[in-house]
Amino acid sequence: MHSKFILYIRNIILFIGLLFISCQTKPIKTVEIRGIYGHPKPFWNKGISLSKLGVNAIFVHSGSIDQVMMEKAKAEGLLVFAEFATLNGKNYVENHPEAWAINEKGEKVQAASWFMGVCPTNPGFRKYRFDQLRTLLNTYDLDGVWMDYVHWHAQFEEPKPILPETCFCDNCTNNFSKDTGIEIIDTAIPKKAQWILNNHDKSWRDWRCKVIFEWTSEFKKIIKEEKPKTLLGLYHCPWNDVEFDSARRKNLGLDYDMLVETIDVFSPMVYHKRMGRKPQWVQKNIEWFSNKINMNSETRLKIWPIVQAYNNPGVIDPKEFETVLKGGLSGASTGVMMFTTTAVAKDEGKIEVMKNLYAQLKENSSR
Ligand SMILES: [Zn+2]
Repeated sequence: MHSKFILYIRNIILFIGLLFISCQTKPIKTVEIRGIYGHPKPFWNKGISLSKLGVNAIFVHSGSIDQVMMEKAKAEGLLVFAEFATLNGKNYVENHPEAWAINEKGEKVQAASWFMGVCPTNPGFRKYRFDQLRTLLNTYDLDGVWMDYVHWHAQFEEPKPILPETCFCDNCTNNFSKDTGIEIIDTAIPKKAQWILNNHDKSWRDWRCKVIFEWTSEFKKIIKEEKPKTLLGLYHCPWNDVEFDSARRKNLGLDYDMLVETIDVFSPMVYHKRMGRKPQWVQKNIEWFSNKINMNSETRLKIWPIVQAYNNPGVIDPKEFETVLKGGLSGASTGVMMFTTTAVAKDEGKIEVMKNLYAQLKENSSR
């Protein structure tokens, strides 16, 4: 009788254990964000409501948001996220030359194709951007703010990236010295830069990552003070740890181990064609990234990639668009959006792909 009872209990435990394992191995994935990137106007102008397309979230450049758009979006039940150009100094450095990023030769950097990075430690620029963020948060009832252009001066959205060494302005080298305790000889910038790169390369790269991280922690702090429910997202370079000689961390200053502390949602910019990759790369990259930020043990973090729909360079046909859209939902991703709204709205084939996929996803979602 006694041993039968033990056997009975053991079977129950085994059953519960098996149930637990089977639940773990077959998770039912819920996709919460069926997004588009860009002002919804191209669809609205055609008389198409976004909710009919299955879209439930829009990501719009902060400068393009106005009250009319907000009201219409809310009436359609859409979540609204503002893209916030953070370290793009175009139209700022021209009037504030002291904020111009300086290369290892001591020269003002040239624009990296269409991007003009600013010196991220410049106090005037920091105040300017932080004030802009406060104003944005208090003007509109946003669901999230997505930081964009969060890296040192460079260009990663090209098949041949531009990856200069920056910034060796006095403010940066003084702060580096103060923060690390490394004494830097007072000499001309080219000599100083060479000395830092030759003797303190690791400390220099670590410090640069910290500067970028601090931009995100300042944003988080401001959000907490102004509108604490607003999500903080990040559009970022999707390269893995070794591509382009580890340039993501080395040149851009993106350290995921630091960023997971402040960022709520990561949006890797997996622009396959722009970066000269195959459409299947999107899935591989998102799977890699999901492991990289250890999504299994951290439930607060989310991944909502942005994929390419835009026909430049080359043409992205609807089939290819479908591949990258689905690829963007691989790994631990729970949302996706595409660059751009206009690129989809003017192509009936792409509209159909998005509509069909989003309709399927909607069935498994509460939103
Ligand atoms: Zn600087």
